[in-house]
Amino acid sequence: MPKRKKRILFAAFEAVPFIKTGGLGDVAGVLPGVLNGKDFDVRVVLPKLSSIPKQYTDKMQYVASLTVPLSWRKQYCGIEVLKHNGVTYYFLDNEYYFRRERAYGYGDDCERIAFFSKAILECLQFLPDFIPDLIHCNDWHTALVPVFLHEHYGHLAQYRGIKTIFTIHNLKFQGLFTRAYLWDVLGLGGTPAEPQITQGDAINLMRGAVCYADWLTTVSPTYAQEICTGYYGEQLDGLFRSRHERLSGILNGIDYKEYNPETDSMIPATYSQADMSGKAACKAALQEELGLEVNPEIPLICMISRLTEQKGMDLLVFILDEFLHGNAQVAVLGTGDDRYEHDMRHFAATFPGKCAASLRFDSALSHRFYAGADLLLMPSQFEPCGLSQMIAMRYGTLPIVRETGGLKDTVIPYNQYTGEGTGFSFANYNAHELLFTMQTACRLFSENPEAFAQLQKQAMEADFSWAVSAEQYKELYLNLLAKG
Ligand code: ADP
Repeated sequence: MPKRKKRILFAAFEAVPFIKTGGLGDVAGVLPGVLNGKDFDVRVVLPKLSSIPKQYTDKMQYVASLTVPLSWRKQYCGIEVLKHNGVTYYFLDNEYYFRRERAYGYGDDCERIAFFSKAILECLQFLPDFIPDLIHCNDWHTALVPVFLHEHYGHLAQYRGIKTIFTIHNLKFQGLFTRAYLWDVLGLGGTPAEPQITQGDAINLMRGAVCYADWLTTVSPTYAQEICTGYYGEQLDGLFRSRHERLSGILNGIDYKEYNPETDSMIPATYSQADMSGKAACKAALQEELGLEVNPEIPLICMISRLTEQKGMDLLVFILDEFLHGNAQVAVLGTGDDRYEHDMRHFAATFPGKCAASLRFDSALSHRFYAGADLLLMPSQFEPCGLSQMIAMRYGTLPIVRETGGLKDTVIPYNQYTGEGTGFSFANYNAHELLFTMQTACRLFSENPEAFAQLQKQAMEADFSWAVSAEQYKELYLNLLAKG
């Protein structure tokens, strides 16, 4: 008899191409499709937000409607289904909660999120042939799933044995709300879950998942270790330490179809490891476009990022004046805190031809940056995984990173004695360490072009495809399910 496929329900509040506000949307949009196959039937559950493009909502099909209990409330929920790129997506519909312009940021987010988590569990009774073996939850928006499963559904036969994984993409947002919600919305007041999700005078939804999920993951192995420390743990480090045996890190991948210098239609000239001449053309075109001096001999360092403290902007603005007195160019593409946007405008005005600031979000331009730059800057204070450094390496653009989180796991620092490496890195969150590392990278570019070209080749050979991460998720699912 053929073995039954393991059923995985991937629960998220966003997934491309339906809803995207950040990195979680990319992961949830790609990973389930890569996991699907002969051993796994992976389906995705999402809220039916009104921002989902009409081309998709038109194709959704009605499955069932049900009533979701939420403390004293009884709320309507419709289930609709859509098959997209071979993956089955269930959309949970309630216009009161989800007919909004944005995904998050409303006064009743706690209630909307609680509804979504409860509805995920309730809807399992209405999905034909799909009681999952495992629910894979992501970030605080689905953190209540393991809590409700344990507290409210544990006694029901069809829910018994369902495992849960909780993946942290962003520890900064934990879902903190006033305690009043505990009784009025969550219906968890006075239950054993109460102390688990209570934090001081508030409730912390992520805390609940960290206590109740069968396994915890973050999006890089180093970040999984870092969050067990006070510096990175965002006040949950003690809890992570107590569960470290059930905490692991799996790196995100990047979309190899979208980011491919050999086929990218958004860059002026395509190129490959074997023939890098197109990259020189991309650099010249970018220098021209940004008003920088068009000169192949001047190293061009780019940054494509949110302009925030997390991304190391305070270090950059501290040393940029000193750095730009040397023979190098810096171009930034990003939006973020006013003060950093202001600083970048100042540097661009002070160093015309050497520094450029494109203060907007522009995906097509980001491709031209990745292809045209020699080096990419990412001096983050913390970085759960980071995508930019992986994309850059695929384009033969060497990253300069701080050794933290996913940056440490993906960039091999240049070793001048062995020639090993895929980029440059520094350890401490210190502006002059950043400056020296930028200067070292530029020196190698100018004084030893063969060694620099060899590093580019090594960076382009590194494998950051989703296939690698998917294998690790599959292994984790199987191990967890084997535990019974
Ligand atoms: P984050 O912490 O912001 O998720 P990542 O490195 O994981 O950082 O992902 C950032 C993604 O957003 C990358 O794909 C990067 O190319 C893209 N990006 C960031 N800023 C911009 C911008 N201003 N314009 C276009 N793309 C951007």
